[in-house]
Amino acid sequence: MGETATLIDTGNPGEKSFYQLKSLLNENNLSFKDFDHIIVTHMHTDHCGGVSLIQQEAPLPVFVHELARPAITGGEAEFNRIDHFFTDFIKQCGADPSIHQHARKYKEEIWRDVHYVSEGDEVYIGGRPYSVLHVPGHSQTDILLIDEEQGITFVGDHIIPELAVNAFIEPPVPGKSHRPAPLIQYRESLIRSKGRQLGKCYSGHGKPFKQHIELIDKRLAQQDARCQQIRQVLKERDKNVYEICQEVYPHLKGGIVFLGLSQIQGHLDLMEARNEVMKGERNSITYYKLI
Ligand SMILES: [Zn+2]
Repeated sequence: MGETATLIDTGNPGEKSFYQLKSLLNENNLSFKDFDHIIVTHMHTDHCGGVSLIQQEAPLPVFVHELARPAITGGEAEFNRIDHFFTDFIKQCGADPSIHQHARKYKEEIWRDVHYVSEGDEVYIGGRPYSVLHVPGHSQTDILLIDEEQGITFVGDHIIPELAVNAFIEPPVPGKSHRPAPLIQYRESLIRSKGRQLGKCYSGHGKPFKQHIELIDKRLAQQDARCQQIRQVLKERDKNVYEICQEVYPHLKGGIVFLGLSQIQGHLDLMEARNEVMKGERNSITYYKLI
């Protein structure tokens, strides 16, 4: 809130989340029509899922990073491309997609008046200009919104004091053949954020915080410790991602195993880049061994 009101992130898809938000706004004497626009910090469903329902009530423009364009405009073909990528990924990990892949159904969602932003652009929040910093890793579309003068930053899910954020495996950009290495990207993004004066940070989950530098150092160290743990698991023999995941995250079952596979793969990408592991293939499954 400022000279204007701006909505940053929208909550989950569906009416439950929509009405929760609407009644909370109501309690604060606001309605969707009072906002100048929506800014989406990244394309995760708990952040962007409410856009189409909100736009049906009030025609607010929406600002989002340009890498969100394929998902927003690609329709069912893009949905299927993403789904196939994850089926192949889970198979390559040595896991079973029929058990470990979330069944998703395509549901058309129309976003109107979308403005794509990129690094260095300015967007307005509460009537003040904020600069956009692209910080891929947690997702490919993560942005920070920084007002250095006021000492305020909206960080989305890039850094959260209460939890160590995952860097999720995602498909290649349409037309490219290699997927991004999200943990490597995430670490680079964390180091860039560390070099910026963020002031008071408002994240997508949990309370506002100020000590972003200490928090980033802690997260980088936790990732190094996880690599160390994977080294121990690989001491015995070469293993696939699913086997490593079962040892590192033994409590994960069913569809949420994917989160573990994504985490392990991210760390293996990093260890491979550091020449700590090398990969080979047997029966279309990728195996990693220590160098
Ligand atoms: Zn997220």
